[in-house]
Amino acid sequence: MHRQCAHCQRSFAPSDFAKAESKDMEGMRKRLGLTGVRFVYYCCPGCGYDEIFVDEHPLPGEAADDFERRRDLLAAAVRESHGEHVEVVLTERH
Ligand SMILES: [Zn+2]
Repeated sequence: MHRQCAHCQRSFAPSDFAKAESKDMEGMRKRLGLTGVRFVYYCCPGCGYDEIFVDEHPLPGEAADDFERRRDLLAAAVRESHGEHVEVVLTERH
């Protein structure tokens, strides 16, 4: 799928995919026991920002309210664990 930098709007190429960081995020996801979510990490060569794409999927039988609450918690957790020059982009997948 097409992803672009939320900071400078540059389109990401497959080579901008940060494999090691994505793997770290996946490790964090497992440690926290998070399900219905996927982290994809890119480094933007245009502006130097890192971009964390958080794709959230609704869980089976999950109410819209719970989905929204989970989304807010996720966004806060990801922002907290990363410092400056990082953009967090949350996408809902239905
Ligand atoms: Zn950029």
